[in-house]
Amino acid sequence: MLICTVRDCRQPLTREDRRYLCPRDHSFDIARSGYVNLLQPQDRRSRQPGDTAAVIVGRRRLHESGVTAPLLREVAAMLSTTNADTVLDTGCGEGSVLGALHAKSAFDAHGLDISIPAIDAAARRYPDCHWIVANADRFLPYTDGAFSLVLSITARLNAPEFRRVLRDRGRLLIALPAPDDLVELRGAGHDRTARAIDALTPAFTLVEQRRATASADLDAPAVRDVLHSIYRPKRAQPVEAMRLTFSLDLLLFTAA
Ligand SMILES: [Zn+2]
Repeated sequence: MLICTVRDCRQPLTREDRRYLCPRDHSFDIARSGYVNLLQPQDRRSRQPGDTAAVIVGRRRLHESGVTAPLLREVAAMLSTTNADTVLDTGCGEGSVLGALHAKSAFDAHGLDISIPAIDAAARRYPDCHWIVANADRFLPYTDGAFSLVLSITARLNAPEFRRVLRDRGRLLIALPAPDDLVELRGAGHDRTARAIDALTPAFTLVEQRRATASADLDAPAVRDVLHSIYRPKRAQPVEAMRLTFSLDLLLFTAA
């Protein structure tokens, strides 16, 4: 179901030993940890696009501490996936969300992110899912109608590509930071749902909307992990233990 990312090639890729090949002989190696890097030179706006290793480690610590578990439960309840589903998490980061959903329901799981260290961490932790490095803003390197469900969890939206890789009546779940997300650190944000619905209409029809909110007491190192995941501060700044709010607006669509 993967397609070639070289310029306008877009031919199907087939696996051959430790690499993927297209009919025009473009080739992509499978990394030792099991992911495939489909990133092209023009996709790299910087030498290390996406999240850095330090941010990835911090984000995984946060998921493992359990503070985001109530949000994940809400996502799982909204989706009720079965093992007949084929799921893409685009902008999946270090893979905790897809990995946790897959642990509950053994669907065919695919994760994509532009960060090599994030995907490497995902592939090591969740070897039963498929992981690729690619630039989802350009196009999603999968065949038309490959998925029954696409997830975009606080990632960028690419409505035409989401629609193309989803089969008819396939589902799309978007998670956006809600106005009270991390309000203690960054103040009140704005409601992003109307703009997202606009961007996804008419290719998609909104079927359900929920707000999932959790709050937790975090120690100073955990607060630092959260800060690094949202700001990339240039130098260490003193932080204290505090109670933080995590809040997502969840929008479920079907492909029209
Ligand atoms: Zn090719």
